[in-house]
Amino acid sequence: MPPKKIPMRMCVGCREMHPKKELLRIVRTSDGKTVADSTGKVSGRGAYICPKKECFDKARKIRGIERALEVDISDEVFESLREGIDESDR
Ligand SMILES: [Zn+2]
Repeated sequence: MPPKKIPMRMCVGCREMHPKKELLRIVRTSDGKTVADSTGKVSGRGAYICPKKECFDKARKIRGIERALEVDISDEVFESLREGIDESDR
């Protein structure tokens, strides 16, 4: 059997390619909110990040999420996304 091609995405924190299903999707919704999308079904512009605090810290430093989604992210929103990752961890 030929190996299946795994969809890869780049983490906006460490800038490395990882299988899409191992990454957390962050979406800018049509009403301008920035939310973590654990289902992969929220519509809107999306960015991918490793579900690790380390990558959130890097993303914050290099403004990776802001650049990918073309939004400004407040400290509160950033913290809530960062704090949410432990629960969304498999
Ligand atoms: Zn990463």
